[in-house]
Amino acid sequence: MTLVEFDRVRRPRTGDLSLVAGPRLVVAGETGARLLAGPPAHAGRETRPSHDARLGAIELVDLEPERLRASVRESGLLGRGGGGFPTATKFDVAATSPGVPIIVVNASEGEPASRKDQTLLELRPHLVLDGALVAAAAVGASEIVIYSHASHATATDALRAALSERAESPVRCRLVDAPDTYIAGETSAVVSYLDGRGAIPSRGVIPAARAGIAQRPTVVNNVETLAHLALIARYGASWFTQAGAPEAPGSTLLTLAGAVREPGVVVEVVGPATLGEVLEAYGGLSEVPRAVLLGGYEGTWMPGREAWGTPVERHRLAQLGMSLGCGVVAVIDDDTCGLAQTARLVAWLAGQSAGQCGPCIFGLPSLSEQLDAVVAGRARKSDLRRLREVVASLRGRGACGHPTGVATLVESALDTFAIELSTHLRGEVCSVTSAARGFPLPSRAVPR
Ligand code: SF4
Repeated sequence: MTLVEFDRVRRPRTGDLSLVAGPRLVVAGETGARLLAGPPAHAGRETRPSHDARLGAIELVDLEPERLRASVRESGLLGRGGGGFPTATKFDVAATSPGVPIIVVNASEGEPASRKDQTLLELRPHLVLDGALVAAAAVGASEIVIYSHASHATATDALRAALSERAESPVRCRLVDAPDTYIAGETSAVVSYLDGRGAIPSRGVIPAARAGIAQRPTVVNNVETLAHLALIARYGASWFTQAGAPEAPGSTLLTLAGAVREPGVVVEVVGPATLGEVLEAYGGLSEVPRAVLLGGYEGTWMPGREAWGTPVERHRLAQLGMSLGCGVVAVIDDDTCGLAQTARLVAWLAGQSAGQCGPCIFGLPSLSEQLDAVVAGRARKSDLRRLREVVASLRGRGACGHPTGVATLVESALDTFAIELSTHLRGEVCSVTSAARGFPLPSRAVPR
């Protein structure tokens, strides 16, 4: 069960203040939290009456499309699905392209360790639906499609219940069950699936916002992005920009995973904070961990000492060559071998290919085998060059970011776990070869 530390976010203890209060924080009705403000997690789904009583109903007729798009532009809202694309740009393209636009709520959350979108849907479904309706108003859409996994049962149930409380919705909403694969949430795969062609990514030159489903302008937004939008429509762009950094405004949801007190906990970071502060206050860590995987399973490994002082700010991370991605912060402790963990993830990721591009079909299984050999102590120093060549051959290849993501994961693992790598390449048994506290993988995962 995913839990949200609502109370701690809303009523910070002394010492948590760096998370929820900072020079750019403005409290709007609630103390600190924005998306996670409201009734505590144990209260479950927020009903429509409770949601409207807390935030006030949005009068969609008052939302004039041009002014709404201008407000989104002014807010600087960036997509929270991983790509960080400016939301206003998508809206502007869709609103000025031929055809009646469609809004897609991308609730597939295929990243196995991520819980933020499911959490928002479980607890604040009306905030997300408000955001979808605001997006529809901004571009003149006639239809909202919610693309979600049936396997996210609690979130789907909450969504269905919330939709039943909105029978009077001015825009038609329908729920579509997304395929249960890692890449099914990639924007072009989403559009392809909803267009009846399977969840296969493509590197199209025409953006979905211009011509997507049935050649209609299609705006695909992540759940968290839409929840922010619902608040921007209420409180305005200047309120939104008072959290986060000027280059990437607004609060950010993180999911903590791995060797933390409560894997799967979702934390909202409103004010300036470092990863160390978040992990100490919400992950229950009292000392620097062995390493942190930032941004999901196709993210970047960092030594714990380096991660500890790293700011939770998308633009600062980009300057460091990293990405917050979907907001997963996964930790390993001293009992876990980062190389074994990486090999386990790569084996799973290799099985997630859509099977249409050479780098995926041939490169990923080969890489997985080579990593297995390293972890088992069967590889030698001379094999490392070949492994690095395979990694380099994946970068920038394929019709989607899957091969590049795996390359990022493996390259950062080879750097972060250089000492362990030397041990394995000497054929010595690593003292922590087990992936004892393995990161979560769906049941279709390759067993280890
Ligand atoms: S790169 Fe891989 S996952 Fe992406 S479209 Fe090609 S085969 Fe599919």
